[in-house]
Amino acid sequence: MRHRIAVVGGGPGGLTFARVLHRHGHPVTVLERDAAPDARPPGGTLDLHEGLGQLALDKAGLRDGFQALSRPEGQAMRILDPDGTVLRDWRPRPDELANPEIDRRQLRDLLTGPLDVQWGRGVAQVVPGTRDGVLVHFADGRQETFDFVVGADGAWSRTRPAVSPATPQYTGVTSVETSLDDVDTRHPDLARLIGDGSMAVYGVNRAVVAQRNSGGHIKVNARFRAPLEWHRNLDLADDEAVRSNLLALFDGWATPVLDLLRHGTAFVHRPVYVLPVSHTWTHVPGVTLLGDAAHLMPPLGAGANLAMLEGAELAETVAMLGSGELDDAVRAFEEQMWARAGRWAKITTAGLERLVSPDPAEAIAHWDRVNPS
Ligand SMILES: Cc1cc2nc3c(=O)[nH]c(=O)nc-3n(C[C@H](O)[C@H](O)[C@H](O)COP(=O)(O)OP(=O)(O)OC[C@H]3O[C@@H](n4cnc5c(N)ncnc54)[C@H](O)[C@@H]3O)c2cc1C
Repeated sequence: MRHRIAVVGGGPGGLTFARVLHRHGHPVTVLERDAAPDARPPGGTLDLHEGLGQLALDKAGLRDGFQALSRPEGQAMRILDPDGTVLRDWRPRPDELANPEIDRRQLRDLLTGPLDVQWGRGVAQVVPGTRDGVLVHFADGRQETFDFVVGADGAWSRTRPAVSPATPQYTGVTSVETSLDDVDTRHPDLARLIGDGSMAVYGVNRAVVAQRNSGGHIKVNARFRAPLEWHRNLDLADDEAVRSNLLALFDGWATPVLDLLRHGTAFVHRPVYVLPVSHTWTHVPGVTLLGDAAHLMPPLGAGANLAMLEGAELAETVAMLGSGELDDAVRAFEEQMWARAGRWAKITTAGLERLVSPDPAEAIAHWDRVNPS
């Protein structure tokens, strides 16, 4: 007998889970809160690591699709001093495929493929242990029962309370994201400054990071240490007010760096929240978590990779099972996920301390360790 399986959330983790199950011929229901694929801006480009996100795509049979879409040249990294001096300029070798970049929208479409994602199905609550199985309450008041529910619904997961009381905590580092379009034509100097990959500028307790996406699109993140309520007297919906605030915060930095903020549009506030570094829970039959829902950590290149590999591994585990063994298998999956995610949570937490630090030399030393060439 086949289990009735639902995954809450159609992000990288949930879609990889569903796609690998689908590859094994197992039906799965994908419940996604967004009303449509393009209901909100997808966020910046993702670098998928060889042994993590790329391995997950192998398990989904999507290696060729990834190679066709990804940008190995996006691995380039340039570091500037706030006065504009170039301190580091790493370029990948032509055959370097350790961490190619892919746009989130392209990754989502690649993973979705033949899946029948149920858009506009926001989950309000997940109740395990009812007579008919795991009861899912939807935001619109409807309900549905499944044998197994996977919470891949991100930082503010509505599935998580079914297994754990943990909630994300603010790290003291916040971020304002903006973007520039058609840079090669409209801002050629900025396009050259950023190059094919990323550019980062580190100052005291603050940084500006810019990343090239496909199609001449650039995402810029201004990161800084601040109390959560730093914007109490600022209307975050007022782009001009946010821009002036940021220009004052980064006053004195080189003109091209500030131009990224001057020409940016659609400012989005993204405070950095995390779950405890070693977040675990007592296994609950019929429900588990993966990705940010299980182990939210600083956004330093691991979260989507882990979510995808966990999705692929859990799907493979479930696809191989008979009906009675699900809980033992999920328990084993959880142990493996916690151990790996705990290691990455420590790495990224230390990374955030160094990259938004009172001593900018810490940030350069961090990248020298990551890119020793
Ligand atoms: C600026 C920035 C840069 C980053 N760069 C990288 C990088 O280069 N590499 C990397 O590996 N990671 C990176 N990350 C982290 C990465 O984005 C996350 O770790 C990753 O998206 C987590 O995937 P997920 O599938 O677990 O959750 P999410 O991507 O958050 O997806 C969750 C999905 O669930 C849906 N959802 C939420 N609530 C509900 C609900 N109640 N009901 C139904 N659906 C719901 C959401 O709409 C969403 O589609 C970055 C993060 C940020 C903020």
